[in-house]
Amino acid sequence: MLDALASALQLDAGTLKLFHVESATQTELFRLLPSVDELLRSQAISPLISAHGHAAVVEACRAALDELRRSIVEGPAEATANRERVESAIAMLPAAVSAQLAHSSRLSLRRVVNATGVVLHTNLGRAPLAESALQHALEVARGYSNLEFDLAAGERGERDAHVDRLFRLLFSDIEAQVSGQPSPQRTQSQFRTIVVNNNAAAVLLALNTLAEGGEVIVSRGELVEIGGSFRIPEVMAKSGAILREVGTTNRTRLADYEQAISERTKLLLRVHRSNFKIIGFTEQPPLEALVELGRRRQIPVVEDLGSGALVSAETMGGVAEPTVSARLRAGVDVVTFSGDKLLGGPQAGILAGRAELIARIRSNPLFRALRVDKLIYSVLESTLLAYVRQQFEAVPALRMLQLTAGELLARAQALAAQLAASCRGRAQVEVVACESVVGGGAAPGWELPSHGLAVVISGMGADELLIRLRGHEPPVIARVEHGRVMLDMRTVLPGEESEIVAALKSALGEI
Ligand SMILES: *Cc1c(COP(=O)(O)O)cnc(C)c1O
Repeated sequence: MLDALASALQLDAGTLKLFHVESATQTELFRLLPSVDELLRSQAISPLISAHGHAAVVEACRAALDELRRSIVEGPAEATANRERVESAIAMLPAAVSAQLAHSSRLSLRRVVNATGVVLHTNLGRAPLAESALQHALEVARGYSNLEFDLAAGERGERDAHVDRLFRLLFSDIEAQVSGQPSPQRTQSQFRTIVVNNNAAAVLLALNTLAEGGEVIVSRGELVEIGGSFRIPEVMAKSGAILREVGTTNRTRLADYEQAISERTKLLLRVHRSNFKIIGFTEQPPLEALVELGRRRQIPVVEDLGSGALVSAETMGGVAEPTVSARLRAGVDVVTFSGDKLLGGPQAGILAGRAELIARIRSNPLFRALRVDKLIYSVLESTLLAYVRQQFEAVPALRMLQLTAGELLARAQALAAQLAASCRGRAQVEVVACESVVGGGAAPGWELPSHGLAVVISGMGADELLIRLRGHEPPVIARVEHGRVMLDMRTVLPGEESEIVAALKSALGEI
């Protein structure tokens, strides 16, 4: 037995003999175990170090030995059976270490299949990116780029230039193209945009630049909290501006703003109710009235628009969210919005507005701390180019929003047929109508009619099935509705159906 053990471990048999004992009490069983160092030196394990790194292999050896120690402690009292069991487990140590390494050395941030129907799911990375954007990022990131280099002048340039030019086009043209009206000329030179890490950073930067040490007037009905601990009062405090709340939760009038204005007032702030609705006895002054008040009293109006749609509802499957260009046209001085919500691009925060205000914001040293890198610029630029070219179907988030209930029914039926063939009746699969949501704090209460599959496996609870689907590679993320696992087809990307089939098959296999 010892020789077999020594050869399995590819250790020198003499080393193992040191642990050789006649009777197998628990202490003696422990003595059979090699040390971490011995394992590391063994011929079966030492080659793993070059592939996985010393620290990871040490960790895996420790974990495998700990597991074995636990099994000794918890093992049956009968000594000889125990001894055989432990010896064969020792022989299996290299395999256990390899398995542990295969698990621990895979990437932690992984692709998942989103079958939740939440298009901009913040926990699942919000917007999937356009193919052209990924290609561009690959090309830009692989080598050097003109990120801050003006190729025409041969000197230092500004990183903003790459996307500012496209935003200018979009803000002058997009609404006009969609509605067929001529574009207003003033937009070309008056507006400018800059990009920071996310919309939270954009709001912080705007408040800090334009209102530090002064007061910012906000309606009590707009003191929002967005998922992931973005709260307007807290961001305000960090910006060094003083929050001046006006009105009530449900009703704020223009007069409330007007009465609160003093020589300390630096800004009128409007915050989009991205993730909630106030209904019933409500009042909010029209944006135009707020803009007019700002003009009259010479106080800039900033709007945190949150999602920042660039196109109208018809291009987003009917999802009606205010567009950035409409807000700029209404006279808002600076609009802030996210890059990875309805825009369908990378995580970024965009500040768009009057050129002189944006220039002031850009010269704030905080901008340097919040700016984004070439990867974000390359993805954002290509995504915006798709908008400029009106190739909206190239932007996955827009494409998913546009899918009709009929198209989704056909996909659900096709997947149900595949499942029926491969799961042979062991899973009960029903095609059902369901509602997808936009997510990402956009269009609260808006539901997109969709279709999906409701899955039940006899002898397995819905929560257990969810766990098994998550444990598959790639993980499949679904939700439970009325005791059944629901897979909404809207957010399942083309080609992912076969992965869902494989995940369900392996879930069945483990019963
Ligand atoms: C989403 C949202 C934010 C936060 O944007 P991030 O890009 O996630 O930082 C801020 N304000 C509003 C109104 C939002 O909807």
